[in-house]
Amino acid sequence: MTINRKSGHLFIENKSAIEVAKEFGTPCYVYSKRSIETNFNRFKDAFDQREHLICYAVKANSNIAIINILSRLGSGFDIVSGGELTRVLAAGGDPSKVVFSGVGKTQEEIRYALKQKIKCFNIESESELYRIAAVAQELNQDANISFRVNPDVDAKTHPYISTGLKENKFGVEVNDAPRLYKIANELPHISPTGIDCHIGSQLTDIAPMRDAALKMVELVDALENESILIKHIDFGGGLGIQYENETPIDQEKFVSMLLEVMNGRKQEIIVEPGRSIVGNSGVLLTTIEYLKHGSNKNFIVVDAAMNDLARPSLYGAYHQIDNITHKNSDPAKLYDIVGPICETGDFLGKDRNLSANEGDVLAIHSVGAYGMTMSSNYNSRPRAPEILISNERTYVIRERETIEDLFSKEQTAPDAH
Ligand SMILES: *Cc1c(COP(=O)(O)O)cnc(C)c1O
Repeated sequence: MTINRKSGHLFIENKSAIEVAKEFGTPCYVYSKRSIETNFNRFKDAFDQREHLICYAVKANSNIAIINILSRLGSGFDIVSGGELTRVLAAGGDPSKVVFSGVGKTQEEIRYALKQKIKCFNIESESELYRIAAVAQELNQDANISFRVNPDVDAKTHPYISTGLKENKFGVEVNDAPRLYKIANELPHISPTGIDCHIGSQLTDIAPMRDAALKMVELVDALENESILIKHIDFGGGLGIQYENETPIDQEKFVSMLLEVMNGRKQEIIVEPGRSIVGNSGVLLTTIEYLKHGSNKNFIVVDAAMNDLARPSLYGAYHQIDNITHKNSDPAKLYDIVGPICETGDFLGKDRNLSANEGDVLAIHSVGAYGMTMSSNYNSRPRAPEILISNERTYVIRERETIEDLFSKEQTAPDAH
């Protein structure tokens, strides 16, 4: 454990969280380097000597320091935009270990990715295949492609983060895949080298993942009969983490399931974990501005808000929240923890039993994934800084934004005529 309580104080590795809050102010994201490394290495070690590639899903947390840490451990990257590719390159990531997912790749993004010689495009529609073929032709370069197959399994997760059902916008239908592979196989400059799927996020049940994996290998065998030889199978990400009392899917259990499903097949295995590498590696520190006691509800108004952490508002997601300013005398009360934004949906936690005083610092847990990357500047709120902890040392890996940053690309209106 790298984020835990020692004699009542929250520590991130060997650094006291309350010290971090004092030094850098709040709201403030804080990550443990060791936690990120440990989570990555659990995947890596589970594969042992087996040929594989772990493509960290950059959208979970795209800070270049975090990409750099993972890159140094040998990680590849799953990207969903040209912007994420630029980040990977800036962080020293290897483009030949990059797979490019997403339903809306523009010509510009495809051109850029081809020039950087990425490993594979994960194609999500027939039209995208033709677009990639045209760009590859124009550049006189070959594009490795895989189709993201929608295996039509119910991942049993939140509807907004479930992606593997027929009605989702993602991927191509499993029954249509053989036809698409045949087309791809005949197109000049297109090499159908892989196949991929990703059925959803925050999955806590391994059964749908196994069902999807079985459908993948079945399809690979069918394609082989048509002389289309698939070199890698990408099983996506989606492993859930513990936010409240979920039982997460262990990295080891997930990998051994994949090895069992592969049953001696020789293709390279790719996985695309995001949340399970960074989710529990970060906390958001926030200070209590006001306590508001009403006849029906008590509110803690903090200096963080839905613009800093969108998951509670967006998905009704639960994040554990505790008071890290050490006091043991005050009786606890039931509170909603809310931000200063002018939206009723601006809450970070509901009905939490906390003892609280104005000025105390709260820690919001498990925010390393889809925290900072989903933040915004709504209500002209500068984004929080990101601090990386390694042992007892602190590194500012993103400075707090200034108000001037927010309107630096704006101009006042022209004079009225
Ligand atoms: C978001 C995403 C992932 C990562 O999902 P996690 O739940 O964070 O592991 C992997 N692959 C694709 C295509 C994604 O869109």
